[in-house]
Amino acid sequence: MLDNSVKSKLKSIVGEKYITDDPVEIYCYSHDSFSRALSWVKEDYELKADMVIKPQNADQVKEIVDLANAEHLKIVPRGAGTSFGGQFLPIEGGLILDFTRMNKILEINTDDNYAVVEPGVLYIDLGKRLRNIGKGYWIPCNPGSADVCTIGGMIANDASGESVIKYGTTKDYVLNLKAILGTGQNLQFGRLVKKSVSGLDLLNLFVGSEGTLGIITEATLQFLALPESFKTVIASFDSIEMAVNSAKKIKELLTPMSLELVDRITLMGMNAYLARLIPKITLKNAEATLLIRLDGNNEITSTQANKVSELLLQDESSSNTEIFEGVKHEYLWNARNGAGPAIGRLSPSVQNVGTYLPASLDFSVPFSKINELMQKYGKIMEANKLGSIRMGHLGDGNVHLICSIPIISNDDIKKLSSIQTELVKFAISLGGSVTAEHGCGVWKAPYLPLEHGTDAIDIMRKIKKIFDPNNILNPGKLYSFPKKLLNFLDNLEDV
Ligand SMILES: Cc1cc2nc3c(=O)[nH]c(=O)nc-3n(C[C@H](O)[C@H](O)[C@H](O)COP(=O)(O)OP(=O)(O)OC[C@H]3O[C@@H](n4cnc5c(N)ncnc54)[C@H](O)[C@@H]3O)c2cc1C
Repeated sequence: MLDNSVKSKLKSIVGEKYITDDPVEIYCYSHDSFSRALSWVKEDYELKADMVIKPQNADQVKEIVDLANAEHLKIVPRGAGTSFGGQFLPIEGGLILDFTRMNKILEINTDDNYAVVEPGVLYIDLGKRLRNIGKGYWIPCNPGSADVCTIGGMIANDASGESVIKYGTTKDYVLNLKAILGTGQNLQFGRLVKKSVSGLDLLNLFVGSEGTLGIITEATLQFLALPESFKTVIASFDSIEMAVNSAKKIKELLTPMSLELVDRITLMGMNAYLARLIPKITLKNAEATLLIRLDGNNEITSTQANKVSELLLQDESSSNTEIFEGVKHEYLWNARNGAGPAIGRLSPSVQNVGTYLPASLDFSVPFSKINELMQKYGKIMEANKLGSIRMGHLGDGNVHLICSIPIISNDDIKKLSSIQTELVKFAISLGGSVTAEHGCGVWKAPYLPLEHGTDAIDIMRKIKKIFDPNNILNPGKLYSFPKKLLNFLDNLEDV
C-alpha cells in the first residue's frame, strides 16, 4: 500500500488520469497465465502491484525513478505484457510503468536507414510505416507476438522469431538507446552506426536485460530494404525425426529466411486459423511439416524454391511438397503465428486453469541434438500421460515444447516441477539454453545457475548493483529470483 503523500506526488508527475489503483486493473496487470494458475492452489501466489502509472515522456520517467529511490518503491516496466517468463510480474509490489502513452515514432531517416521511436510503439505499427515508404523497409526480427508487442518489450527481451537463421534477433537492429538507470542517471548507449568497437559493449548488455538495469525511453533501430518477393516451400513427413533430418540437408543447400517445424497438433491449430479465411486453404495433415521460407527478388525466390522442392522430392521421407506465394503465403504465416492461440481455442484444458510449463516452451540446442531432445520430451510426456505440442525455429535449434497441465492440486504442481527440471537439465546437458528467445523473467530464473554456473550469475548480480544499487527495477527476475515464490520447485536448491 502506498501512502497518500506518495500517491499525490505520483499524480502530480503524470496527472490524475494516468494513475490507477483500481483493484480490477491492478489484478490484470499483476498476473500472467502461469501465476494465475498457481494462485488457484497456492494463496501466496497472489501478486499485487500498488499502482499502474502511464508516463508520457522521459522527464516523467526520471521523476518516477527518483521518487522510487527516495521512497524505496519498486518499479516494473511493462510493454504489452506478452512475455512468457513472468518478466512483467510485480513480485515485490510497487509501480507498474505502462508505456502505452509513449508511443510516438519520432523520426524515420531513409538516408541512414534508422527509425527513432518511443518504447511503447508497437512493432506492427512501426512495420506498417516502414513498409509504405518508397519500395518499403522492414526490421526482420518479428516474434510470434509481432501484432501486439512493443519495441521496449522486444528490446528488453531481445525478442526474435522465425527469421533468426538469416536475420538475427532484436539486438542486431538496435543502434542506440536512451535509458534512465536504476540510479536515476540518464544514459545513452550506442551510436548511429552499426559497427563500433569503442569500449565495452554496454548497448548489448542492456538489450535482453528485462527491465532490470534501466528504463528505455527512446530507441534507434536500423531497418533494411524490404525484399521484393517471399515464397515458402512446405512438405509433410511421417515423423519429427525425418523432418529434422531433411532440414539439415536444406541448411546445407542454402540459408533460408525461415526453417520451421510444426507437429500434427500445431498444424491442426493452423488449419483452424485458416478455416476462417477466404480463399480457403487446408494444409495436409501430417506428423511433421516443414515450412521453408525464402526471400529476395522474384528470380532468387523462384530459383531457391525450386531447388528446395527438388531436394525434398528426392528425399523419400517427404511428401506433399508445395510452393506457397502471394496471398496464400501471407495466410500461411499468419496461421503459423496464430497457431498457439488457435490451439488454445481448440483445447478446453488450456482455456481452463491448465497452464504451460514456462521453462519448456523455449529451449535451444545445437542442431545435431534436436532429435535427441524431441525424443526425450516424447518419453517424458508419455510416462506422465500428457499430451504435448512440438514446434520450432529449426534453423537456430530453437524448439518450443509445449505441454498443458491442468493445475488442480499441489500434486499437479509437484509433477510439473519435476518434469520441468528434468527437461531443463537435459537441454543444458546437450549444450543448449533454457531460453532461446522468450527470456527468463521469474519462472526460468532459477535455472540460470545451471546454464551459466554460479560464478557467472554472481558477476551478473554485481553488474545489476552498479546500474540499480537500490534494487528498485524489476526485482525478483533473472539473477535475483524469489525462492519463496518459486517453492513449487521442490528441489530448488539443486537446480
Ligand atoms: C502468442 C505469443 C507468441 C510469442 N512469440 C514469441 C516469439 O516468437 N519470440 C519471442 O522472442 N517472444 C515471443 N513471445 C514473447 C513476447 O511476446 C516477446 O518477448 C515480446 O517482445 C514482449 O513484448 P511486450 O511488449 O509484450 O513486453 P512485456 O512482456 O510487457 O515486457 C517484456 C520485458 O520488457 C521490459 N520492458 C518493457 N518496456 C520496457 C522499457 N521501456 N524499458 C525497460 N524495460 C522494459 C519488462 O519489464 C519485461 O521485463 C510471444 C508471446 C506470445 C503471447
